[in-house]
Amino acid sequence: MLPEDIKETFITYLKDKAHRITNERFLILDASLNMDEHFDADELYLKMKNDYINVSRATVYKTLELMSECHILTKHNFKGDRTRYETKIGRNPHYHIICVKCNKIIEYEYPELEKIQKKICKDNNLEMVDHSIQVFAKCKDPKNCKNNLNQNNLN
Ligand SMILES: [Zn+2]
Ligand SMILES: [Zn+2]
Repeated sequence: MLPEDIKETFITYLKDKAHRITNERFLILDASLNMDEHFDADELYLKMKNDYINVSRATVYKTLELMSECHILTKHNFKGDRTRYETKIGRNPHYHIICVKCNKIIEYEYPELEKIQKKICKDNNLEMVDHSIQVFAKCKDPKNCKNNLNQNNLN
């Protein structure tokens, strides 16, 4: 999807649901598409603040929700962690393995998994709209597994 198309998708969604269309929302859209991998609302808010982009924290939270509702972002609730988002744009369906000690996230693609989920839905007279698979694991090598869970509570 081109950047203009993403914006168009977002505008259409906001109009349909009678949400206000504001410049703030587009600033947040732009900034979130430039974020690395899995970010949470506060990380995006701080990044924007550091870049001298003035938006309220509440608007960041709300806008990320709206962007996930219209399928620009995927929303994750990894075990015990804050809600994280990642862009769907230009990404193939992929799955996550999360280290329960250091929160490292491994991503992998495995198209067979999607086929299996679709088949199970079909067998049960359902049509799949989305899917997500999370596996929780531990790093085998303790040296590569820094317990940084507490770092998420900084700021
Ligand atoms: Zn991911
Ligand atoms: Zn680890």
